[in-house]
Parts: sequence; structure tokens; C-alpha cells
Amino acid sequence: MSKQINVALIGNPNTGKTSVFNALTGLNQKVGNYPGITVEKKEGICKLPRGVKAHIIDLPGTYSLNASSLDENVVIELLLNKKDKDFPDIAVVVSDVENLKRNLLLFTQIKDLEIPTLLVINMADRMDRKGISLDIDYLEEHLQTKIALISTRKNIGIDKLKNLITNYKDISITPCLNASQIDKTYFDNLRKAFPNQLLYKLWLVITQDVNFGKTSRKEIEAVTNFKTKSKTDLKRLQQKETIKRYQFINNVLKVGQTIDTSQAKDLRSKLDRILTHKVWGYLIFFAILLTIFQAIYDWSGIPMDFIDTVFASLSEWTKNILPSGAFTNLLAEGIIPGLGGIVIFIPQIAFLFLFIAVLEESGYMSRVVFLMDRIMRRFGLSGKSVVPLISGTACAIPAIMATRNIENWKERLITILVTPFTTCSARLPVYLIIIKLVIPEGRLLGLSYQALTLMLLYLIGFGTAVVSAYILDKVMKIKSKTYFVVEMPNYKLPLFKNVALTVIEKTKSFIFGAGKIILAISIILWFLASYGPGEQFNNAENIVKTEYASQNLNEENIQQKIASHKLEHSFIGITGRAIEPAIRPLGYDWKIGIAIISSFAAREVFVGTLATIYSVGSEDVDTITNKMAAEKNPITGGALFTFASGISLLLFYAFAMQCMSTLAIVKRETNSWKWPTLQLVIMTIFAYIVALIAFQFLN
Ligand code: GDP
Ligand code: MG
Repeated sequence: MSKQINVALIGNPNTGKTSVFNALTGLNQKVGNYPGITVEKKEGICKLPRGVKAHIIDLPGTYSLNASSLDENVVIELLLNKKDKDFPDIAVVVSDVENLKRNLLLFTQIKDLEIPTLLVINMADRMDRKGISLDIDYLEEHLQTKIALISTRKNIGIDKLKNLITNYKDISITPCLNASQIDKTYFDNLRKAFPNQLLYKLWLVITQDVNFGKTSRKEIEAVTNFKTKSKTDLKRLQQKETIKRYQFINNVLKVGQTIDTSQAKDLRSKLDRILTHKVWGYLIFFAILLTIFQAIYDWSGIPMDFIDTVFASLSEWTKNILPSGAFTNLLAEGIIPGLGGIVIFIPQIAFLFLFIAVLEESGYMSRVVFLMDRIMRRFGLSGKSVVPLISGTACAIPAIMATRNIENWKERLITILVTPFTTCSARLPVYLIIIKLVIPEGRLLGLSYQALTLMLLYLIGFGTAVVSAYILDKVMKIKSKTYFVVEMPNYKLPLFKNVALTVIEKTKSFIFGAGKIILAISIILWFLASYGPGEQFNNAENIVKTEYASQNLNEENIQQKIASHKLEHSFIGITGRAIEPAIRPLGYDWKIGIAIISSFAAREVFVGTLATIYSVGSEDVDTITNKMAAEKNPITGGALFTFASGISLLLFYAFAMQCMSTLAIVKRETNSWKWPTLQLVIMTIFAYIVALIAFQFLN
């Protein structure tokens, strides 16, 4: 079998690289990260004619080879490093027929690296409407390349593209621009010093300061006996390069492209006027957000309940058909619920990304950024942070995954770090039960205190997120250039294939990225709650039966007592007792300690755990509330859940990072354990301090 052809898809943002990538690879794609950084790496396999296969990489969008962001660096480093296993046999530059001039700048730069470079002109379906016509033969001749005029939307020209890739060896590698045109003496000297190196490549190394192979800028300076010029001189030469390139492009397009401008852009400008309007723009965006938010809540509720039931019955069923024992318990109480804890997130993730993909694809997201950027940037966030922050109120997992649309790494990281402060739906059961317990039922101006408290908790969550973003922005020293939105893309009907692939890819990356960690921690928590050392745990059944022998309890009550006795003496129970001295100043006892530890699996587990400890059969809120209300503080003898301890607990849940799934997804999205660890430590300490102050002050 012959070697695979390495193909790199390169192009300005929004030219349709990903659409071309999808058209070529279909479902044969995988998404990962470039080593050490968080730029997404998409690769896939394409079957070409005559049994040839191509390995295709969808590179991040870049305007030119003059790198200004992490994403653009990826492109340069790949193109300059022949040793890279992904080094392209052929570079496919994807351009958009409506922005050919700007797109060709990058094309000429890549061609000058003397890699076979193919030009794809995408969105051919829009030529008629825009009055554009092209003389492809003329363009091919003067750009010294082969051109595929395609439309991924109408599925036109893809086969021709595949043919051109297969025959990549026929493509000329003559450069477009002779580098000496920029500054004759300078480049002649450079050539003398490095007779065997490609001149344009040396030039990029000097101006870009990128690492590739052996030759570094310092070495070049050492070998050439003249200085490589000052920074300002280099900048001036770079500008000169750009001017020369545009002269070349203009000359080619003057003959190769005709645009009949009488065809208007009226619809677009009308839509823009409304969607970015000072009032209507925000209102429409807000309405869209509400719809998304409602959908994540309501629509995913049904499949989520279904998944919940299925996994519960699966556990039940496993217990019934397998012989009882440690393995069955591991399966029924550890692994199956753990898997359920992964699958349960899928509906929310799928719905959120369905919406986001449609917003991105249609071109609307760029207007949102334009609208929200000014406000959000004051807090170190991006216009696009609005979507994660709002959807964080449903669940932080899909919200954090949604930050991938934020190009600027610092803004994205800050959004990831603060999103868990927004009140997610898992906190709701905890809030409801504690509010019911400690907040009086009265009303203030017709509004119930309980409802006000709940609303206050949501506001606190959102406020903390914004304030911490502001602080992080000031504290964190991360250089990351703001993505400059050069222009707004046109409005388009979303491509179904792109939307579907986004949804599938996000779901897959959650399951295989964060899912593993979630499953592992579920099993550990199960183990800690199901096993314990010593007589008290292992002989729980006899101990409880003897203790209650005189009371004549029915079988169900006895079983509940046994379960709660076991939990008390399990490893988790022992840990709960061990941390009691630390949490007593917050107004909690060891039972709440157990519930706090086990709600690390998911916050809503809090209620279930307390139910077991107080040995209530059902999780019906009323009975638990009654039991909780009756619970006595072992020291004061008064009620355990007072106004002070209740508020303290509410605040603790508002701030603490008690969600392994969130930590797992942060690890996946930042590609390091550093950030989730910091989140866990800082948020927990902060929660502790706030809860401590609240309790001591109110008590
Ligand atoms: P990328 O940023 O270069 O990866 O571009 P995408 O593949 O994400 O596409 C950007 C936008 O162009 C999306 O809204 C696509 O639906 C749209 N698009 C892609 N190909 C075509 C096409 O052939 N015709 C039209 N009209 N739109 C397209
Ligand atoms: Mg893309």
C-alpha cells in the first residue's frame, strides 16, 4: 500500500474549512488537542480515487502567516517543520468566493514555502447572487496552482477536489513572490549566509520567532555578519511584504475576477441593523438565550428522566439476576450508577450544542460578540462568555464545553474558571430543602421570603462569577491576543451536516474525555460508602437487630436502620466524623459532613445521603424535612438546622466546587490538572470562609 497523503486544510476563519473537512472525511474524524496547548486539533481520513487515502488536518483559522495568536502559531509551526509527522504533502488553502482578495494573501504566503498548494474557492453557490464571475483558467495560470471551485453546501466540486489532491504531485511549487523584491541587499546577504535554505522560510523564522527544527533566529543572527535589523525595521519590511503581495493579488484578480456590484447586499444590512441594534439587538439576544435555556431545562428533562429510570432498573435487575456479593454490588451500586451519571448529561450537552452550532453556522454568533463584547470585556470575559454563563444555570458541564467557541485563551480560561459559580440545577434540591427548613414562610410586599432567598442565591452565584472574572483578569498574567473580528460573516442557513457533526463530536468528547474520570470517582465513592473497617461496620446487622430487639420494628424499618448504621461506620462515615471538628464552626455535624463529601459525586446526592443517614425510606422531601427539623445539635441541644446553620450551608453550596463531573470537564478542556485543582482548592476555601463568617455572625 502506498503511503497516505498528508493534507493540511488552511484558510481564513469562516471560509468553510470545517465544512470541507466534513465533506471529505464524514464521520472518519477525531478531535484532540495540540500537545501542551488547548488549540483544538481535528484530523480525519478521506478515501481518494484509486484506493489512495489522505490524512486530513483541519487547521485553526488564520489570516496570515504573521502569527499573532496561539492558533496561528500552530499553523506556522507545522508548515515550517518538515520533521513533523503531520507535515503536509499538500496544503489546501480554503477561500471564500466573496472574500477572495483577502483570502489570497494567506495563499501566496503558503505557496512561497514551496509546498504544493491547492486553492479551493468555496461557496460557489453564492456567486450568482453576488454577481461574481471567475476566469478559473486565468487564475490557475497566474497563481500557478490548481483550483477547485466548490460549494460544500450544494455538494458541488468535491470529487474534483479529491482528484486534485490525489494528483498533488502535478502542482507547481514555484513561489508567487520573490522575497528579494522586499529588500534586495538584505535578502541577498541572507541567501549568501544560508545558501541551502528557503529564503522565505528564513524570513518567517526571523520575523515570527517560532520554534522549528534547528534554525532559530539567534543562530541566524550569529551566522549572518550583519544584524537582522531592529524590530521597527523588521516591521517595516513586513508591511512592505504585505503591500507587494496585495499588488500581485490585485493584478491577478483584475483580469481573473469580475464583480457586478449592482446586485445588492440589502437583506444582510437590514438584518444587521436590527440584530445589532442598541435596544432590539439585546432584546432579541435575550429572547434567544431564554429559549435555549428553557430548552435545556424542559426538553432534556424527558430524556434525562428516562435515562435515570433505565439505569435504576438496570441496577435493580442486575441485583436480582446475579448472585449477591461484592461483585454484584460493585456492578449495581458502583459501575451502573457511575455510567448513568455520565449518560445523564448527554441530552443537555446535545441540546446546547445544537443551538450553539445553529447560532454559529447562521452567522448570528458574530453579531452577539459584537453586541456583548463591550460589556463583557470590562470583566475580562468575551462576548461569547454570555452563553456559557447563562447555560451554567442548567449545568456547568455543557456550559464549560461551550467555551470552546471563545478564541482568546485568557478569556476562555476565565470563563471556564468562573462558570461553576452560577447556580446549576443540581444545587436546586439542596437549596429547596434547606430554605424550607430555615426560612420563615412570611411575605414581604407580597413576595415570599423563601422565593426571595432562592432568587438571592441565583444572583449571588452570577455576581460571584462576574466579580471573580474581574479579579482573575487583573491577576492572571497570560498573554493572549484578542481575536480581531475583521468582518462579519454573511447570514446563512446552517448546514445540517455541520450541525450534526458538532453535536456528535461534543457528545463524544464529553463521554470519552470526562466520562472516564466521572466513572472512576463514582466507583471510589461507592467503595468508601459501602465498606468500612472493624466490627461496627461488618457486624452492623446483628448490632442493630440487638439494639432494637425490644422495639418490635417492622422489617423495612430495621433495614433502614441497618443501612444508616453501615453508612455511619463506613469509610465515608468515618471521614465525616473526622472532619467534624473542621465543620463544627460552620454549624454542621458529622452527618452533614458525610452528605457534603458524598455530594462530590453530584450535589443533589446531598438529599439522598441525608435520607439514608436519618434512615428515611423514601426521598420524599416532607419526611426528610421533618426528620431534619427534629435533628438536635449534640452540643447545644437545640435544633441542628437553625437559621444560622441553614444560611451557612446554603452559602457553602453556593460557592464550593463540589462536582467531580465539572472538575473532569475542566481537566479535559484545559488539558491540565492545574486548573481544576486550583478551582477545587480556592472555591472550597472561599466557601468555607464565607460559611464560617455567616454562621458565627448569625449565631
Ligand atoms: P471555518 O471557520 O473555515 O471552519 O468555516 P465553517 O466550515 O465553519 O463554515 C463557515 C460558514 O460558512 C458556516 O456557516 C457554513 O455553513 C458556511 N458554508 C460553508 N460552506 C459553504 C458553501 O459552500 N456555501 C455557503 N453558502 N455557505 C457555506
Ligand atoms: Mg472551522
